[in-house]
Amino acid sequence: MTRYAFSPPAVPALPVAGSDAVFPVRRVYCVGRNYAAHAIEMGHDPDREAPFFFQKNPDNLNTTGTFPYPPRTSDVHHEAELAVMLKTGGRNIPVEEAGDHVFGYALALDMTRRDLQGEMKKAGRPWAIGKAFEGSAPVGPVHPVETTGPLTEGAVTLHVNGSLRQEGDLNQLIWKVPEMIAFLSEYFELAPGDVILSGTPAGVGPVVRGDVMEIAIAGLGSMRVTVI
Ligand code: MN
Repeated sequence: MTRYAFSPPAVPALPVAGSDAVFPVRRVYCVGRNYAAHAIEMGHDPDREAPFFFQKNPDNLNTTGTFPYPPRTSDVHHEAELAVMLKTGGRNIPVEEAGDHVFGYALALDMTRRDLQGEMKKAGRPWAIGKAFEGSAPVGPVHPVETTGPLTEGAVTLHVNGSLRQEGDLNQLIWKVPEMIAFLSEYFELAPGDVILSGTPAGVGPVVRGDVMEIAIAGLGSMRVTVI
């Protein structure tokens, strides 16, 4: 039996809708600029170029219904996203088989310290301090694909204090879910427990303490998250 030098950290896990089982998380990949209108609002070309990814930490996933405003920033933005959970993985997964690896989907917020991300972009440095901080990925329960079917279209919205801020449709994803899985699997070995955040539609913007964010995606219901 392994004798750990100290108690190992708990495996991050997400509730599964309609089940008492939880989804154990291995890695969290996030795709950038996957909706043309958001690429344009961030000052980039919306043309379909190869997708790019960054990562959050598994323990950044946050199911508390709250978002703790992080330190060292004064410009934290919401990004409403569809999260895709994998039940199986592999390398070089063909795009036509990629959908078979999906366990389910969840509502997710890719909270971003935009000021720090901007400084890192300018300096050509990694985005970690802008993206992968404590509590930075509020996420809802995982809805198994058996109950939702493949999610390929439907509204994505985010309201803050009841006002519509972000609006898009899953059919506007530049890189579709199976394409993201296939692409990632050329660079990484994917495995059960991997999570992919699929990018955000236009309308990102700042939040402050006390704000209530409400994300909704057709087929997944809605989730409210309070900034504390
Ligand atoms: Mn994002």
